[in-house]
Formats: sequence, structure tokens, C-alpha cells
Amino acid sequence: MTGAPSAIIDGESLIGAGRPIEVVNPATEEVIAQIPEAGDDLVDRAVASARAVFDRGDWRLMSVAERQRILRACADAIVAHADEIADVECANLGVPLAQIRNGLVRRVPGNFHFFADYIGQMTSELYEQEKEYLTFVRREPVGVAALVSPWNSPLALGSMKIVSAIAFGNSCVLKPAEQAPLGITRLVEVLQGAGLPPGVVNLVNGTGVGAGDRLVRHPGTSRISFTGGTRTGRVIMAAAGENLKPSIMELGGKSANIIFDDADFEQALDGALLGIFSNNGQQCLAGSRILVQRAIADRFIEALVERTGRIRVGDPRDPMTEIGPLAHRNHYDHVMGFVPDAADKGARILVGGDRAKGFDRGFYFQPTIAAVESNSHRLCQEEIFGPFASLMVFDADEEAYRIANESRFGLVGYAWSRDIERIMTAQSRISAGTIWCNTPMMRDLHAPFGGIRESGVGAEGGRAAEAFYTSQKAVSIPLNRLTLRKLGA
Ligand code: NAD
Repeated sequence: MTGAPSAIIDGESLIGAGRPIEVVNPATEEVIAQIPEAGDDLVDRAVASARAVFDRGDWRLMSVAERQRILRACADAIVAHADEIADVECANLGVPLAQIRNGLVRRVPGNFHFFADYIGQMTSELYEQEKEYLTFVRREPVGVAALVSPWNSPLALGSMKIVSAIAFGNSCVLKPAEQAPLGITRLVEVLQGAGLPPGVVNLVNGTGVGAGDRLVRHPGTSRISFTGGTRTGRVIMAAAGENLKPSIMELGGKSANIIFDDADFEQALDGALLGIFSNNGQQCLAGSRILVQRAIADRFIEALVERTGRIRVGDPRDPMTEIGPLAHRNHYDHVMGFVPDAADKGARILVGGDRAKGFDRGFYFQPTIAAVESNSHRLCQEEIFGPFASLMVFDADEEAYRIANESRFGLVGYAWSRDIERIMTAQSRISAGTIWCNTPMMRDLHAPFGGIRESGVGAEGGRAAEAFYTSQKAVSIPLNRLTLRKLGA
């Protein structure tokens, strides 16, 4: 059994008195931790701690150079504990250890370095339209950020939220998902030893309706950043609206991956497989609707099905494993719930569609592809969030754009072609927050990452984070002593 605190407040790990949350290893179904939920008292204390450090100015008033130094020390501390954190994450999440290690080592410290660099390059605005005056605009930190993250990629998403908020001088309270809190909780513990003033990064563990709800409604917070499902996003955004609190919503997706007939066949094939099956298929940005053009469809589908059938599903600790178990039982049931639809009218399973063979325990699901006739089918319109793609064949390019855009979501879009004009048309015609051309997912942290329609509101990334986590203050100063009208003289 792994020990994990209910909360980390003011640099201290605390155990609360709330109902225990059982954390399960999805590969073995064993309970690996019991974390008493952080009750209202701990959530309130976490916000108070974050608010106190903000008001005192221990962090926000530090020089940029000093904040940069500490953010880089955070990155170093994470690197020093990377293997241990990856181990805990693997046991809790079921994503192959090798993928977590590579992702962790690359992404999480990278997020800290990116924002350390970013704050060193921030510029300001200066206006001289009124010739007697200089008017400049300052960007000031806003206060306490309430951060709520999902279970599918706790380290990458949680650390991104933390550093985006604190880099600009804010403090924060993170509420990770109750299904996979262990890796990110350990990471926040590690951060406490890296030189951040106590109270800058706090964490509360608990359920969404418990600790999460308390946090997002808390009057002591100034911003809400949420990543998770669209339904939860609506609830949180309504709560934010009641308090006129700016919020970012990073929500679900059902993204189209368009493979034109002149695509680099091998690249598009590799990209389509990575686009749907990375991270055990549990990704908001998955290319989960594969659209392939008729002229290459037979050959492409044959290769896709063959490769999908050969993907190695197994123990996430085995270095040969490519896909581990789904993260938790409810999610396994959710993904399984789409199987009857895939064998129903208008759809046909080409590969997978069942529990992975050879496992009597664990939430193992076969990598699955289903051919679907109409984009209105449930398999094309609902987020499955597992290793389960729908596949459609299209004729004209216009048809592909129409299908891609016929979705209540709009997170990302993928397009594969060797013709630059076609790619330029595709990137403008696909309606989504991010378009990846001739590549599976890649993230440049300078660029905004956010969805449109039901995929979200607002974005994360360099300037997007600066705009969200700082408030603007316009200051006007006369260049010379003014001759003012003398009222009552
Ligand atoms: P979820 O919405 O069920 O939960 C997300 C988080 O919100 C959890 O920490 C949960 O405890 C908390 N929560 C739930 N109800 C709450 C409430 N009423 N008040 C406050 N907090 C509450 O989502 P999930 O199942 O954990 O994650 C999967 C979803 O996340 C998918 O839809 C996926 O597409 C989405 N996602 C989006 C992105 C993105 O960047 N757009 C990235 C990753 C995941």
C-alpha cells in the first residue's frame, strides 16, 4: 500500500479525516492506497495558505531572476525524482512505464523551463498618443488559482497547470482526479523541497463533488483552470460565472484524422496509430475519427487493421508493452459500452472490440477499430476516450472537411498529404483549436492549446497563460508638471 496525503498545505503533507478514497492499480485491480478525502476544512486551509503567501508577497514580489532560478530548481528536483514518480504513476495509471518515463523526463521539467524562460522575456506596452503623458500597462499576478485536473495524464496536465499559474507570481491549489492522484501528489511533494515559499503550491485530494466543488466555489480563489469532461466543465463554468471568475475549460474531443490519397502512406499509418493508441488511447486530443480517401482506402485499412491487431497489450511494467490497461473500472465499463454499437447497423468492428486476451484481472481492452457508414453514428459523435477509433471512407476533399466539422467538439484536427496546397486548404477548413499537419500530436508550448465549441473555452500555452494568469493595469504619468484647472480657486 502506498501512502499519500489528503492534502499538501504550506509545504506540509496532511492526512484528513474524510471518507477514504480507494486508489486501484488498473493492471492488478489491487487497492494500492487509501486516501482520506480532504474535507472542507482542508480545502479552506489550502486556499488560505495560498492567499496568505500571495498577500505577503513572498513569491509575487520576488525578482524575476529569483523566480526563474526556483522554477529551474523545481525542474531539477523533478528530474532527480523522475524514476520514482514514474513508478508510482505507472502503478496508478497503467500507462506503460517506458512511455511515462519518456513523457515525464521530457515534458514535466520542460514545462518548468519553458515558463522560467517565458517570464524572462515578458514585455510590456507603452503608449504616447497623448503627448503630455506616458501610459504604460503592467501585468500583475491575480491571486490564487484553483486548478482541477483529470486522470488520463496527471503529471503532464497537473504540472502544466501549476507552472502556468505560479510562473507569473500567483499561488495555487490543485485538485487532481481521485482515480489517479498518486503520481502528481508525489510530484507536488517533491516541489516543496525545491525552494518555493510554502503555500505557493498546495494540493487537495478528493472527489469532484467534494473537494473539487468546494475549491471551485471558494471565494478566496481568483481563477479556475479545469481540464476534464464537457459535462463537468459546464457545472464548473456555471459556478465560475456566479462569482464572475475567469475560467479556462479544456474539455473533450472527437477529432478527425484526415488521410488524403497523396499522403506519405507509412507516415500517415504510423501517425494514425499513434494518434489513437498513445497513452492507452486515453487522450483528449486523440485522432479518434480516422477518415481515409477512397483511392487508398483498401490498402490503408488493411495495413491499419493488421498493425492494430499486432499492438502488444500487457503489463505496463514490461518494456515490450505498447498498451496497458484502461485507468479504472468505470472507464473500462464506459469503453466496453460502445462495443454493441460497433456491431450494430451502420458499423462493423474491423479489429478488437473485446477484453484483451490472456488477462483474468485488470482493465485490459483490445485496441479497436470500427468502420462506420455515417458520421452521425454514436461512434463518431461521442467521446469514447479509449483505444477505439471509428473509420470512414470519403471521396472528395470537401466531404472530409464536412465530416470533420460535423461535431459538437473542436479540439484538434489532423491532415496528411504531400501537397502543400492541400495542406494549406485543410488547415484553414478544419474547424478546431489546433491542427496537426503530417504529424501526430506535437505541442509547442508557445502556441495556445484549447478547444472550440464543446471542447472548451480559453487556452493554455505561453501568451494564453500570461493573459489568463495576470491582470492588466494601465498607469498614466505626465511628462511634466501639469497646468490643472483650479476648481474653487
Ligand atoms: P471529469 O470531468 O470527470 O473529472 C475531471 C476532474 O474534475 C476530476 O479531478 C474530478 O474530480 C473533477 N470534478 C468532477 N466534478 C466536479 C465538480 N462538480 N466540481 C469540481 N470538480 C469536479 O473528467 P475525467 O473523466 O477525469 O477526464 C476525462 C475527460 O477529460 C475527457 O473528456 C477528456 O477529453 C478530457 N480532457 C481534456 C483535455 C484538454 O486539454 N482538452 C486533456 C485531458 C483530458
